[in-house]
Amino acid sequence: MRRPSTPPSSPSGSRKRTRSCATGLVCHRCERNFPLEQAIFACPDCGKGLDVAYDYELAARHFAEVPRAERPLNIWRFEELLPIVGTSAQALVGSYAGYTPLIAADRLGAELGLSNLYLKDDSTSRPSLSYKDRVVSMSVARLLELGKDEIGCVSTGNVGTAVASLAAKAGVDAYVFYPSHLEAMKARACRALGAEVCQVEGNYDEVNRRCRDLAAATGMEFANITLRPFYAEGAKTAAFEIVEQLDWQSPDHIVTPAAGGTLSSRLHKGLGELQLLGLAETSATRIHIAQPSGCNPIASAILAEEAEIHAVTPETAAHSLAIGAPGDGYLVIDAVRKRGGTGGFASDPEIFAGIDLLASTEGLLTEPAGGTTIAVLEKLAAAGRFAPDDTVVAVITGNGLKTLDEHPAKPWPDKVDCELDAMLAALEELGRKPSPVAA
Ligand SMILES: [Zn+2]
Repeated sequence: MRRPSTPPSSPSGSRKRTRSCATGLVCHRCERNFPLEQAIFACPDCGKGLDVAYDYELAARHFAEVPRAERPLNIWRFEELLPIVGTSAQALVGSYAGYTPLIAADRLGAELGLSNLYLKDDSTSRPSLSYKDRVVSMSVARLLELGKDEIGCVSTGNVGTAVASLAAKAGVDAYVFYPSHLEAMKARACRALGAEVCQVEGNYDEVNRRCRDLAAATGMEFANITLRPFYAEGAKTAAFEIVEQLDWQSPDHIVTPAAGGTLSSRLHKGLGELQLLGLAETSATRIHIAQPSGCNPIASAILAEEAEIHAVTPETAAHSLAIGAPGDGYLVIDAVRKRGGTGGFASDPEIFAGIDLLASTEGLLTEPAGGTTIAVLEKLAAAGRFAPDDTVVAVITGNGLKTLDEHPAKPWPDKVDCELDAMLAALEELGRKPSPVAA
């Protein structure tokens, strides 16, 4: 569908610069450098992904120049450490993404024996109710810097809705490629937001590989493939916010779900950058990752103390975590080892029990990825991985309203007559004990 709106205006030629201190791209493995302007996403020498490098001394100076009260409460709050250099691209994308609440989870904490438990609640992220708003904002901003007007993505669900929403706001066309197994509500949301949706026979990893070919054949930029070095940087904003929201105290532990590995590896990078800038002492923060039992290649490698990821064929109800060959898995292994964390996994019934536990204690409805995080948090607490007064942050990455159809529901009660007696009888049937006043 071609949009009626005007395409983005001349972002690549934008003369006004952000305070970004990005200096270039660097290969994760062989450390070969590339200019930031070069449209490249994998190292031609060794095939690995590219990271964004920064001038941290300059970033520290820039950061001191602008008081925090004058900084926006969105993903661009720490723009010195983000890779977008043109202000026009930034202004168009994600101005209301990020800065999600950090919730003191007293009731869940009491259940788990933790007195300082917090939830980083990206299930309320704007515009599309998942953490993916952070990363896709960077992809779309980069797309505008490149002067392009269409974007594709491969998605298990949440990337697609973020791309559909942020592309619409930026006035560019969006094409979302889904694997066979998806959460239907997410694909429907993409279409409602004006993106074109193509469901492909195959699992995420197969569709992802084919989308690389598609990008090469068409020249279309893909949010989480060709724009990946930029995409990944958006995930760091969650780390910056967590530490600032704890009044510049880095938590003792972060528990986060892992699929492709972007979030957990960039939480590690973001924490390290806060330390480099002298903003917080973050070196003691451990990162623990949560995966479904039916797709746990990263957690398995961590627990077996292996350096290599062995790809698996996903079989889990947590579709948003169903990535069997995680591209950034090796970075996660490195991050978790360096930080002294661990990996854990949960079966599908445990994942849905995790969703229910979060709902009944904190009133938050999350999707299976969040249920996985809560289930693994519970296991780590039971195994004594946390001291009772440790500060623990669990990252809730997605909203359960998108995945209610996947949840094994209790049977729906029969309709009753609109009469007092019938409704009193219904209350009793639902388990309420009659109160002395009513008797
Ligand atoms: Zn390389």
